Amino acid sequence: MRAIHWFRSDLRIEDNTALAAACRRAGALTPVFVSDEDLLARRREARPRLRFLAACLAELERALEAAGSGLVVLHGDPRRRLPAFARACKASLVTWNRDYSPYAKRRDGEVRAALERSGVEVRTYKDRVVFEGSEVRTRQGGAYTVYTPYRRAWRRRYHAAPPGRPSPLTLPPRIAAPPPPAPATGARPTPLGEGGAAAGDAADADAAAIPPGGAKPALERLDAFLGGAAHRYHLDRDRPAVAGGTSGLSPYLRFGAVSVRECVRAALSLAEAEPEAERGVTAWLDELVWREFYHAVLDAHPRVLRGAFRAHCDTLEWDDDPERLAAWRAGRTGYPFVDAGMRQLAATGWMHNRARMVVASFLTKDLHIDWRAGERWFMRRLVDGDPASNNGGWQWAASTGADAQPYMRIFNPTLQGERFDPDGEYVRRWVPELAGLPGKSAHRPWESPLRASACPPPIVDHRRERAVALARYRAVRDRRGR
Ligand code: FAD
Repeated sequence: MRAIHWFRSDLRIEDNTALAAACRRAGALTPVFVSDEDLLARRREARPRLRFLAACLAELERALEAAGSGLVVLHGDPRRRLPAFARACKASLVTWNRDYSPYAKRRDGEVRAALERSGVEVRTYKDRVVFEGSEVRTRQGGAYTVYTPYRRAWRRRYHAAPPGRPSPLTLPPRIAAPPPPAPATGARPTPLGEGGAAAGDAADADAAAIPPGGAKPALERLDAFLGGAAHRYHLDRDRPAVAGGTSGLSPYLRFGAVSVRECVRAALSLAEAEPEAERGVTAWLDELVWREFYHAVLDAHPRVLRGAFRAHCDTLEWDDDPERLAAWRAGRTGYPFVDAGMRQLAATGWMHNRARMVVASFLTKDLHIDWRAGERWFMRRLVDGDPASNNGGWQWAASTGADAQPYMRIFNPTLQGERFDPDGEYVRRWVPELAGLPGKSAHRPWESPLRASACPPPIVDHRRERAVALARYRAVRDRRGR
């Protein structure tokens, strides 16, 4: 049988469920990636992520060639390009791993229908998560909306039947297919075209700061993390100044350069072999489960990409304030911890989780700007930008999501900085104007007469804005109660 495996967010050969299934059945197989230029044009500003994706694809292509296969890159809308290519190859099977965003589900349904109309069998597989939403259910059979019971159920299920180890893969020879026609919009020699991933702009992250793409660097990073920082993860994970305090695997998980099953398996083996690593490993696994939780929430409630998970929160009053939004984006709010996070994002395409929580809280509860504006900005700038986790994180911070931060717990950006960056190292690293302020004092430049000119004053007064936010959230609660 001739088969096609459609690579999407699963850019690796090892431990790839759909690819392995295709290899088991096919006598000849063509691995394909579809570069949808219209989609990429809409995502043009997500350059750090596109650059990382291009690097993952290049490494995947090399790995496939080394295994005696190769990668065919089709250009255009997969709804038309895949069925046409399957006909040209005389393929009778197409496989892919499932995605859970509403866009991907709609597109995949249409690709499936088009393929099946031409008599091609379609097989899809779970691979992006350890458990899909439908597999971790409440006693009543519903989807969980609270993380802690979800995590308990997730763990029970995992330990009852842990996913097996993948067997080594032998790639069948490639189908001698006609070369795909060049795209109508001009020559595109690279998988992502000329403009998308390669070009930079002034506000783009530094190319050198984007991590190397591909499965090999992903596994190296996983090994290095488990061999070192994982032991102290429970202590260091909230310290943005600690280099390598967290795994840095989020971009790799985003594009499937590493399998989440492998991450879980390797972490559990470490905890078994070295009991002193157990606390760190357990805390790390809890984060991977947050990722699964947010994927399950998006799968069950696709409307969260448009509005609040707690629908009544859509009546919250937001300010339309382009100037303040611009100051937040540029890392010029006058609050060092917020500015450091935003500048780390601009420079590297990544931001530490503690900083993400604080900058998101600041945008929504100090500047009263709709969380969707922040969600969009993060999707433009993050290398790991992922609709499920990003939406989950934003709705958590805005207190509108499933199992969100209670609205009355509003982060004080200065105290957060003093607590999680007690020596001021993180803020001095990213906000050079603070260089002369030693230790903790870097979190309160307004108290230092020396720095008054270099550091603009905070654009808002936290105490005042906290009261405004509380009044708005209470108004929503009261309206709901009526
Ligand atoms: P580690 O601490 O090493 O964690 C391991 C893995 O667990 C991560 O790679 C990630 O896949 C997952 N993970 C960790 N924390 C979370 C979390 N809170 N929610 C969901 N998954 C988590 N993560 C993304 O992958 N993409 C996003 O677009 C994204 N947007 C976010 C937006 C906001 C407002 C917030 C508060 C969080 C967001 N996160 C997002 C979650 C988290 O900040 C990142 O996953 C984490 O900082 C990545 O760094 P790491 O790989 O070193 O994480």
